[in-house]
Amino acid sequence: MNKNLYELLGLLVSICFILALKGLSAPKSARRGNLIGAAGATIATVLVFFAPLAKAGDKHHNTLLIIGAIAFGVIVGVPAARKIQMTQMPQLVALFNGVGGGAAALVATVEYLNLSAGSEKPSAAAVVATVFTVIIGCTSFSGSVITFMKLQELMTTRPVVFPGGRFVIAATLAGVLGTGGWTIAARGNTPLLVMGALSLLFGVLFVLPVGGADVPIVISLLNAFTGLTVAASGYVLQSTLLIVAGTLVGASGTILTRLMADAMGRSLFGTLFGAFTAKPQEAGVAGEARSVKSGSPDDVAILLNYAQRVVIVPGFGLAVAQAQHTVRELADLLASKGIDVAYGIHPVAGRMPGHMNVLLAEANVPYEQLVEMDEVNPTFPQTDVVLVVGANDVVNPAAKTTPGCPIYGMPILDVSQAGNVIFLKRSMRPGFAGIENELLYDPKTTLLFGDAKDSLTKVVSALKAL
Ligand code: NDP
Repeated sequence: MNKNLYELLGLLVSICFILALKGLSAPKSARRGNLIGAAGATIATVLVFFAPLAKAGDKHHNTLLIIGAIAFGVIVGVPAARKIQMTQMPQLVALFNGVGGGAAALVATVEYLNLSAGSEKPSAAAVVATVFTVIIGCTSFSGSVITFMKLQELMTTRPVVFPGGRFVIAATLAGVLGTGGWTIAARGNTPLLVMGALSLLFGVLFVLPVGGADVPIVISLLNAFTGLTVAASGYVLQSTLLIVAGTLVGASGTILTRLMADAMGRSLFGTLFGAFTAKPQEAGVAGEARSVKSGSPDDVAILLNYAQRVVIVPGFGLAVAQAQHTVRELADLLASKGIDVAYGIHPVAGRMPGHMNVLLAEANVPYEQLVEMDEVNPTFPQTDVVLVVGANDVVNPAAKTTPGCPIYGMPILDVSQAGNVIFLKRSMRPGFAGIENELLYDPKTTLLFGDAKDSLTKVVSALKAL
């Protein structure tokens, strides 16, 4: 391949990645952005495959192995991505992200071992970049595996702390940095491998104390780490493409981490190490037997029928029930009766950033009906009915009233300010953070038990009959 053509296509790929990010920043253009990014990644893969041919006199090595690895990735990745439920997307992202970090660390290690085996010693800059890539890549890999296990509930979602945990983490980090320095000074293979092993351990220790509700922030942080690792490995491999792609992932991951931490009212330090300093939790233990007011679909239909303003608060359960089309049908019906309807969107409702926007966009809910948390909160005192469809943590007042509980400090949708609150859920089970919600016991709250889609269908029928 002609070298100029190679460089030109590399530039095109970089432009695709930038346009993809731009597209992904708004729900309307997100699908297009995703396709542009996928096209860029495909061109990049083909380009890198033919890269050796861009250098005069060079030829392919290990062609069969490379094709085998690509085929394996396609055979495993495509069905996995197709079959995965939208509610399991964060786990998938965590896993893909971890694999990316692990791959970058492996590539950098192999490249380093190759360089050290040759007659020319690796340059100081290449060793520093390798050390950085291996530390961050290994940390991101093992940390992502733990976040995957937490979200898939293969292990407890609660913070895992043990006596002296802080000191063990600090000692492991010191070990990682020490062996990093040793690798740079001695340029040996053993220190690099010890450093990789310690970094894997650090990744595990770093994520274990993070509790359920904070896991998404950590996934986003690890994603940013992986981007930086890829950028550094691009330096080791002298690949501009990897540097550009890695920097974009690193920068966007960092911005997303900050936005999510703000949305949850968390500092990054509090997210990572809060479990070590948390006061004993005062929130009620979920599952205590107390009485609640439950209603029928007819009761809910009557409440809605006489309302002037209704705010629908969607949450994770809406995604589980796949009730987005039915909720839209209900909203349209209410609007046709002259009732003012809006959707109150919490930034971390569901299980991934923008989850509710994506779901509701699928049902063609008009964007102007989606109202972000800061805008909808002041309107609750003038709202007659709030219909909470499969949401829990994002409306849980414990975030304001219960210091030490896992969501304390997270801004919530202030639905208790409204005239009536209706919860659509299947049982008294808590949400993701695993804590009791006092609002379920409030006299102004009515619970309509059942799968959200079934309940909404019944409410729509009852409302039509009125
Ligand atoms: P929650 O997980 O707090 O609550 C979900 C509610 O939906 C539960 O009360 C559950 O009750 C109900 N539910 C589940 N399935 C159904 C169904 N089929 N029909 C009716 N109800 C159902 O969800 P929220 O959206 O309020 O909060 C999101 C939580 O997830 C936050 O803690 C957030 O930090 C965390 N998180 C967010 C991520 C993000 O980026 N958005 C990523 C990962 C975690 P029941 O079982 O009784 O039906």
